[in-house]
Amino acid sequence: MAILLPGGAGYIGAHTAVELLNSGKEIVIIDNFSNSKKEVLESIKQITGKDFKFYEMDYRNRQKLEKVFEENKIEAVLNFAGYKAVGESVQKPLEYYDNNIYGALVLLETMKKYNVKKFIFSSSATVYGDPKVIPITEECKTGETTNPYGTTKLFIEQILKDTYNSDNSWDICILRYFNPVGAHESGLIGEEPQGIPNNLMPYIVRVAAGILPELSIFGNDYDTPDGTGVRDYIHVVDLAKGHVLALDKLDKEKQGLYIYNLGTGTGYSVLDMVKSFEKATGKKVAYKIAPRRAGDIAKCYADPKKAREELGWKAEKTLDDMCKDSWNYISKHKN
Ligand code: NAD
Ligand code: UDP
Repeated sequence: MAILLPGGAGYIGAHTAVELLNSGKEIVIIDNFSNSKKEVLESIKQITGKDFKFYEMDYRNRQKLEKVFEENKIEAVLNFAGYKAVGESVQKPLEYYDNNIYGALVLLETMKKYNVKKFIFSSSATVYGDPKVIPITEECKTGETTNPYGTTKLFIEQILKDTYNSDNSWDICILRYFNPVGAHESGLIGEEPQGIPNNLMPYIVRVAAGILPELSIFGNDYDTPDGTGVRDYIHVVDLAKGHVLALDKLDKEKQGLYIYNLGTGTGYSVLDMVKSFEKATGKKVAYKIAPRRAGDIAKCYADPKKAREELGWKAEKTLDDMCKDSWNYISKHKN
């Protein structure tokens, strides 16, 4: 029996593939490399010393997807495929709805056809919109997303809830990620955004590496201790381990629809991140204060208690690890 990972060559998918292989699971990856590179597959094999099956294809291609289910004994699906750039989603909403929502529908319909009903979905803290209560628990209100990307996550969550309500033999886990950063300690896999990054950590490492001249800090007049935005940064390896535990939960418990925040529970400001990065790596990060970025919120961090109590999951890596591992990866890949 194998776990299917659409988008498994991407940033979070590749780290999860490593953790699944290390925990003795068999996996099958499908990816169209729209936002990743073929070499990642070799790196996963190198890190784990294990092999797996791979299909280069679009997960929206129903015929090809059915073939994957026919050729393999799939027991569960962890879906990482989709587009994720917030700004781009405002420019290209139809592409985002198509890849994320239509893709999820094709996947769920195919799973239903082959009677595979275990599903883990990569959701995001963005479904909470501008949170009214901090730290954010899973009970907090969702909605009022501020961009099409976030809306795709919200809609897919609703599709999953309706699917489960229509047939309680589905076994679904929605994981709401906070801000994934860092890379595998080997430096073989990590985050590789195309073009100029939008996210903070990939931007910081590129400034430190001399690829970009300086970081713009988007606003220092928020209602936070130093005025800059506060987020819950989580090491991608901790995040990946959360998926293995979520899968265990689905295997052990009776069928259900479960929702968990995956965050550390600690918020760091943009200035905290710059200073911690400089301390961890000894590299200077030039920055300037710039106007606020449209759609940004002041602060967002998780209450991770539910995942701790029900999954036995806790983020273990420190901010220092996140900075060092991000730097290690870019140092090895900057050319
Ligand atoms: P990523 O872009 O690195 O990985 C996505 C992978 O899916 C890529 O390898 C890409 O080539 C592949 N893909 C995209 N469309 C495809 C298609 N139609 N068919 C086949 N493969 C396709 O993204 P990531 O950071 O690993 O994110 C994984 C999931 O987690 C996404 O759903 C994302 O929205 C969600 N998420 C990410 C973050 C984050 O900050 N990275 C935060 C919250 C949620
Ligand atoms: N940020 C910044 N400069 C950048 C990128 C991000 O000041 O070049 C800030 C951003 O305003 C937010 C935090 O860093 O307060 C995290 O932003 P990111 O885009 O990484 O994550 P998200 O906004 O999705 O939480």
